[in-house]
Amino acid sequence: MATIAAEAQASISAPKTGSRLIGPTGRVVIASVLTVVGTVFLIGAVTMSAVQRVDGMAAASQLRLLQSSIQEDLEKVPYDQESVAIWDDAIQHARTEKNVDWLENNIGSWLAEYFKHDDIAVLNESGAVIYSHSKDDDPVRDAFANSDDLKRLVADLRKQISEGALDKYEAGETRLPSSADRIIWRTRPAVVSVVPIVSDTKEIKQERGSEFILVSTRFIDGNFISHEATRHELKDARFSRGGDVAADEQSLAIPNAAGSVIGYLVWTPVRPGGEFLSSMLPALAGGLLAFAGLIAALVYNLLTSYRRLQQSEHAARYASRHDVLTGLPNRGYFEERLTEALNQSGVSVGLFFLDLDRFKQVNDTLGHPAGDLLIQTFARRLAKHLAPEEFLARLGGDEFAIILPRGSNQGRLDALSQAILTAAGTPFWLSTTQAMVGASIGIALSKPDDQPSDLTRKADIALYQAKNAGRHRWAVFDEDTNAELASRRQLEVDLRAAIKSGQGLSVFFQPIYDAATQTITGAEALARWDNPRVGKVSPVVFIDIAEDCGLIEPLGKWILREACSVAVATGIRSISVNAAAAQFVNPNFAETVFAVLEETGLPPERLELELTERTLLDASQTAKESMHELRRRGVKISLDDFGTGYSSLSYLMQHKVDRLKIDRSFITLIEAGGPAASVVLAIITMAHAMEIKVTAEGVETTAQMELLRLLSCDSLQGFYLSRPLPASQLTSLLGMKTAAVA
Ligand code: C2E
Ligand code: CA
Ligand code: CA
Repeated sequence: MATIAAEAQASISAPKTGSRLIGPTGRVVIASVLTVVGTVFLIGAVTMSAVQRVDGMAAASQLRLLQSSIQEDLEKVPYDQESVAIWDDAIQHARTEKNVDWLENNIGSWLAEYFKHDDIAVLNESGAVIYSHSKDDDPVRDAFANSDDLKRLVADLRKQISEGALDKYEAGETRLPSSADRIIWRTRPAVVSVVPIVSDTKEIKQERGSEFILVSTRFIDGNFISHEATRHELKDARFSRGGDVAADEQSLAIPNAAGSVIGYLVWTPVRPGGEFLSSMLPALAGGLLAFAGLIAALVYNLLTSYRRLQQSEHAARYASRHDVLTGLPNRGYFEERLTEALNQSGVSVGLFFLDLDRFKQVNDTLGHPAGDLLIQTFARRLAKHLAPEEFLARLGGDEFAIILPRGSNQGRLDALSQAILTAAGTPFWLSTTQAMVGASIGIALSKPDDQPSDLTRKADIALYQAKNAGRHRWAVFDEDTNAELASRRQLEVDLRAAIKSGQGLSVFFQPIYDAATQTITGAEALARWDNPRVGKVSPVVFIDIAEDCGLIEPLGKWILREACSVAVATGIRSISVNAAAAQFVNPNFAETVFAVLEETGLPPERLELELTERTLLDASQTAKESMHELRRRGVKISLDDFGTGYSSLSYLMQHKVDRLKIDRSFITLIEAGGPAASVVLAIITMAHAMEIKVTAEGVETTAQMELLRLLSCDSLQGFYLSRPLPASQLTSLLGMKTAAVA
């Protein structure tokens, strides 16, 4: 079915969903991306600030430690020197023996090796260098002799001694006096310290100010730096005179005693935060990735359920606008599209209404599943013939409509009509049987200012016209035939409403008399319709309409029920009810009759069904079976209007009936003295020979009545005896008669 819908609806554009630039889906994606980016940014910012703070704190503490360590170092060199400067042997070998070898072995090498001093010298009381040692064997004697910084330190030491520093030392109040500073030594920064060489036993007495002086220098940029680097875990530590540092380096100014900077210690500071961050980076990246993945999954889920929601909404909308059986647009959708088409300016809209001929018969004889299959097959055949912009809908039952939104030329109208007739006229294979139907088509073309209801009314009238003209053809709406057909069409609408509401419809009863005794033996039920719009409508007209438009079944059943009820209520011997040909088409007709009999409690023997010759003649196998079944179970069958049709004897022999009703046209003629009386006599004689009773219809005069009694007619019916009466009057008439008889 979906294929039909797809084929037929190829032209239908998807509903416009507004002109917003970004749909809801896009907005969700953008919001999610922003969330992820925002979160990543926030985490990054917080992490970076934490890392910076940790790194800053680490660098600061490293700097503090270094500062104190440099200070310690400045103070350490004099301490180192004490190990050899407070020594009697040193005084002895320096002062007295001037034994340079001893000085080298016991002082220079010792300080150099043990304390890593670089240049070492011993100065005599006048400041002359008596011994010097250099780790790198440089000729350092000149440096010691000429350094102004050294002279300043020596002068400072001598001043301390002259001010009693050694007295305090000897008294145990202070440590050995010393003078130390950071200076540029031989072009390199160094700690230089001078101490006096004094007696450890205090047995060697030296004149104050005459003490020899031990000088030690220790380069700051040499092993000192590597020492500090190991101690404080300094990375890439180096010394810089000018203090030029790279972006990621840190520096510590190294001042001399006077406060001027002699250089800088430069290193790459530890970054525990940064290191922690880089060690955590894979995990962090993984976490962020997982987070992004989670968000993506959430968004995907959201979008999927949103899409599903949209789909089910779409499906619901589709279902509400389409017919389940064929998948075609339904009446609601059709009306929507017709309005749309008419609103589009300028062009004339073409509208086809089509209706299958004899569909009801298929449905009734082959069953609803077969009927459904026929409708589906027909829908599929139709869809194949449509141009993309032509809109096919199923209005219900076997009714279809096609909208040609851009009008159409005569050629297209004819071609489409012919295609539809062919589609309907080609036999339908319904499981095991073949069914032949046809189609009637009504076509209308819109005039400017036509409303949807105008166009559908015109197409409807055209369809009516096509059916009236003999079915399986098309008719284009034409204003001339409009009036007549429209009034008939309007009657159909009114009748439908009347049957639905029961308003205006009634059943009258015309008594039937026994010709010999003139007593009432039965009555014929005759339908009456008082249309509120146009007044009384002849049953000849409205029964015909009811037969045409499928209303005869409900109407016929209602009349039958009324008649049977009245028969039971009045106790009348027999009740005659007219049955239309269309009622016999339904294979369930007999069952319906028996159901009504049961419902009302009327014995079948008291019901007589009146059929016309035409009905008998057209009777299908099912109709014949119904008739047989009705008679078998006691219902009487009478042949109505006998004499107007074929009046065929062989027919009467073939179809057993219980009664003949001679048509009023004969009865009118019998007084005139022509052959009519003889014909009527022949009919009666012949009927009696076949054990068929005879009723004369339309008896209007005494003469007619008398003549018919002479001709041994069994029953009489006519205005002369009684007009059709409402049920209440029949009751009183029956009461009177009963009284009269009694
Ligand atoms: P019908 O079955 O031949 O009904 C007899 C018609 O003759 C009735 O017309 C009746 O009123 C009329 N009639 C009876 N006696 C006389 C008379 O002495 N003179 C004249 N001029 N007419 C007389 P009505 O009621 O107008 O019915 C017309 C036809 O409509 C009926 O012809 C019948 O074919 C059909 N009809 C009426 N009621 C029903 C119904 O319930 N079901 C069906 N299927 N057809 C019905
Ligand atoms: Ca009748
Ligand atoms: Ca009749």
